[in-house]
Amino acid sequence: MTTRIRILTTGGTIACTQNPATGALEPTLSVEDLIGAAGLLSPAKGYEISGLDLLRLDSSSITLADLDLLVAAVRSEIKDGADGVVLTHGTDSLEDTALALDLVHDSEVPVVVTGAMLPFDATGYDGIINLRGAVQAAADPANRGRGALISFASRLLSARGALKAHTSDPAAFHTRSPLTGPRPAPVRHRSLGRLNVPIIAAWPGAPGDAVDAAVKARVDGIVVEALGAGNVSVGMGEAVARALTRKIPVVIATRVPYGPVSLAYGGAGGGSTLGDLGALSAGVLGPGQARITLATALAARVDPATLFV
Ligand code: ASP
Repeated sequence: MTTRIRILTTGGTIACTQNPATGALEPTLSVEDLIGAAGLLSPAKGYEISGLDLLRLDSSSITLADLDLLVAAVRSEIKDGADGVVLTHGTDSLEDTALALDLVHDSEVPVVVTGAMLPFDATGYDGIINLRGAVQAAADPANRGRGALISFASRLLSARGALKAHTSDPAAFHTRSPLTGPRPAPVRHRSLGRLNVPIIAAWPGAPGDAVDAAVKARVDGIVVEALGAGNVSVGMGEAVARALTRKIPVVIATRVPYGPVSLAYGGAGGGSTLGDLGALSAGVLGPGQARITLATALAARVDPATLFV
């Protein structure tokens, strides 16, 4: 029996070379280039490795509509008989995309997301080892039924709770908490493309005007990047309360890289008060992953609380 692995590319540093004229990094490598560079053109007997170029973007530009396209592409590969799917992606929003895939992944087939911290033409390019690791993880029957995974610098992480924790370290991906809890049952994929779910960052003493402006702009939901275990200033807390009164779902995440949001404190901006008013805790999900989760729940018309476990 042949194990079929499909590699889908989206751009990012793993596909970048330096433009000799400007010095800027640009995604120039195709999936064939990557497969060839990783020595996967003639894989071991019993394996078939091939790929498809989907996007060529810096991952800071991946929109919710792009995520719809990526979810559809993964599903189509699985329908066509892939035993494992690898997605190469920029690292800046890699954990957002990995979670978007995970939340709707209702197949046993492993989906493994990877990237690189250094471009192809740099000494120490990490794309080859990362791609090989991702292919190995995607082909491993032990990873069946584990949802979407991140393979990076010889580590395999669940999508849920993962974060890019360093701007330059090759082992850039960590997990926010070892206590990620159970993976919620996948929800039906419904298009995210039309949703507007901003992340609004708090700072000490922040006024509420950014939250009020989002409400006025009729956003579909708001993720607050709060301080500490989930607290914002009095002014911002009062604006969050106004948003909740207008039935806009609000999720409280934190700018702290590790540990869960606990919504423990009182006062107008305290997490406990906001929770009592109906705001949800992002739990161990960072602001980016909380945004993806809220958007996925809103699109699928499921209670967002069921995905913030
Ligand atoms: N700016 C790049 C991106 O996210 C960074 C990387 O891939 O490491 O597309």
